[in-house]
Amino acid sequence: MRIDVVSIFPEYLDALRLSLVGKAIEAGTIDLRVHDLRAHTHDRHRTVDDTPYGGGPGMVMSPVPWGEALDQIRESDSEGTPRLVIPTPSGRRYDQTVATELSAHPWLVFACGRYEGIDSRVAEHYAAREDWDGVAEYSVGDYVLAGGEAAVLVMVESVARLLPGVLGNAESAQDDSFAAGDMADLLEGPVFTKPPEWRGLGIPDVLLSGHHARIAEWRREQARQRTETHRPDLLPD
Ligand code: SAM
Repeated sequence: MRIDVVSIFPEYLDALRLSLVGKAIEAGTIDLRVHDLRAHTHDRHRTVDDTPYGGGPGMVMSPVPWGEALDQIRESDSEGTPRLVIPTPSGRRYDQTVATELSAHPWLVFACGRYEGIDSRVAEHYAAREDWDGVAEYSVGDYVLAGGEAAVLVMVESVARLLPGVLGNAESAQDDSFAAGDMADLLEGPVFTKPPEWRGLGIPDVLLSGHHARIAEWRREQARQRTETHRPDLLPD
């Protein structure tokens, strides 16, 4: 999968070179390319923002460098068709279903906004372009970040762990919270490892029983209880 990220803070994305995503990059499963939006400015101050039409506080990112940057990425490969992903608090809620959808795309381009966001004509223009595979705007939660970079770290990591061969044990994704399957509506319950006793706390007997059916039943019940406590909205009516 090819992933391009455009940002005014390209170093912010260095974290993607660590751990799981870093290994996927080294293995060639992910081709990550990070671009500095300011490379597409032409004034002495490398300006990427301007005052908002209609007035109001803050600045808006100009469509001009964005158009140049995105066109250059598009032109770098005449065969693939990139999908533009714009993180924004006003987008559709990003969740595991979206991560699964995105993991099926061979080429994603992430546009990291700053200030009051990116001029809305950028999304409109690339949505109408036939040489792009549409535009999707996602919010990683009901709060406002200073920029799209942290949201892109979240999205890329959640997409990467769904790609074949990225997780050491593919089955671990199947047991996760939000994973599709017979526990689809449930969060993952509590997990334990050695030592069997730590600071006076032991392990639930059933996990030491070796009885697989009873362990599975216990895990399901724990998952249900945890979901009821933390996220009752996930449970079916
Ligand atoms: N004025 C915008 C609004 O109220 O919708 C907020 C802009 S925010 C300060 C700057 C950038 O941070 C956004 O363009 C977006 O890229 C990113 N951002 C902030 N919160 C986000 C969230 N919850 N999900 C995804 N991206 C977010």
